[in-house]
Amino acid sequence: MPHFRKFDKYISFKFKKRRKPRWWAIRLVMKFGGTSVDGAEGVSRISRLVERFRREGHQIVVVTSAMANVTDTLIKMADMASGGRFPEKLMESLRNKHLKALKAVSEESLREEVQDYISSLLDELGGFLSALSVVGEVSPRMLDYVLSFGERLSTKIVWAKLRDMGMEAEYFTGWDAGIVTDDSFGSARPLMEETRRRVRERLLPLLEKGVIPVVTGYIAATREGHVTTFGRGGSNLTATLLGACLDADEVWIWTDVDGVMTADPKIVDNARTVPYMSYDEAAEIAFFGAKVIQPYMVAPAMEAGVPIRVRNTFNPSCEGTLIGGDCRPTEQTVKVVCMKEDVAMVSLKRAYYSSARDMVRLMEAFLDVGVEGILMSQSFPKGGLCVIVPKSKLRQMLKSLKDVEDLTVEVEEDVSLIAVVGAGMKGRPGIAARTFGAVAKRGINVRAIVQGPSEFNISFIVKSSDGREAVRAVHEEFIG
Ligand code: ASP
Ligand code: MG
Repeated sequence: MPHFRKFDKYISFKFKKRRKPRWWAIRLVMKFGGTSVDGAEGVSRISRLVERFRREGHQIVVVTSAMANVTDTLIKMADMASGGRFPEKLMESLRNKHLKALKAVSEESLREEVQDYISSLLDELGGFLSALSVVGEVSPRMLDYVLSFGERLSTKIVWAKLRDMGMEAEYFTGWDAGIVTDDSFGSARPLMEETRRRVRERLLPLLEKGVIPVVTGYIAATREGHVTTFGRGGSNLTATLLGACLDADEVWIWTDVDGVMTADPKIVDNARTVPYMSYDEAAEIAFFGAKVIQPYMVAPAMEAGVPIRVRNTFNPSCEGTLIGGDCRPTEQTVKVVCMKEDVAMVSLKRAYYSSARDMVRLMEAFLDVGVEGILMSQSFPKGGLCVIVPKSKLRQMLKSLKDVEDLTVEVEEDVSLIAVVGAGMKGRPGIAARTFGAVAKRGINVRAIVQGPSEFNISFIVKSSDGREAVRAVHEEFIG
């Protein structure tokens, strides 16, 4: 596995200061999340990080999210505007937030250039919001357009700071960098072939000259030029996508924690960073709610064999979590214990025999209302089907079931989903017994159990009030 070799080579050098490009120089995509780009201090901090690795001679692409809370604010603004109220105050606070961050840039002409850019973007946004208030509604396509301003504002400031510090850098929106997507507004997916061709055409020559492309995360456009977004947290996908297109050696996701943790440190005192996990494990953990990674960001990196490293902007000496190819057999059986609290359990029962066809009908009903991310456990023939849904989708889902004949529906909202994940569980007997033994020892009742076909994961449902204790029990059993 070539990327392992690269990785081993790289960590053995750790972060010793090196000034001249050397043979181990690598191509890196570095993505900075919202809390990392927040304010003048954040912008300066990440620019220093970029400088440090650029000075070692590496080729670097920078991807940035919108500043902390900006995407939420933009959603609120679109909401207000479509309800007929122009969000004057939010507009002002958006302007101030970015102008304040721009103070990180000391060179006057650069600052003026970015000030003009911010003003013209906010004028454009203001104009659009006024139009929304006339139309009185906001479609997914319009919302994507509104959301695109967050990343454009933050990234331009980061670009300016890099220039200010004397680095050669060029600013790109996702679409200017060459990312083309389908037209699923709000959760667009890249058209890989076209994207790869365009991204290489536009960014490779710069990288080879030592210029740093600074690209907006999260946003791109369709072939026709309509602005799209990848869905919340989508800057990570921009990063892995660019990494894959440019054959990067690693993609670094800079965030505000020390990588992926064995459990939520707010629940388990001795939770620690997972040093290594496979793409499959990462996708699974992301699905169950690790905030620092998203399920859909893994695929491009996995296909291209580009390792992802999750690191902490505020603690850069920590190696973080490396996500790559298959795990070594010696590794920890269970790596992460996650808990998802915003779920509800819906039990469906029928009086009569229920067939696989009934099940398909139910699934269709869920899809019709856009219910995603569900887990199911079932027992034929006497119609026992238990579906775990995100609470946010519960109402919609119940509506979709209203017309299904002969169905008893029971809902439990005060439940938590516990997911135990680790590739080492595969083919190893006794894991389930240990998991449920540990939980039982603390007197916790398990309401439903699912084991996915990957055997990477056992998930179960407990009462909300038992959730934290169940996480601690399993963590102690396997991780200590
Ligand atoms: N700014 C977007 C969000 O908050 C995308 C991202 O941060 O990755 O969801
Ligand atoms: Mg964000």
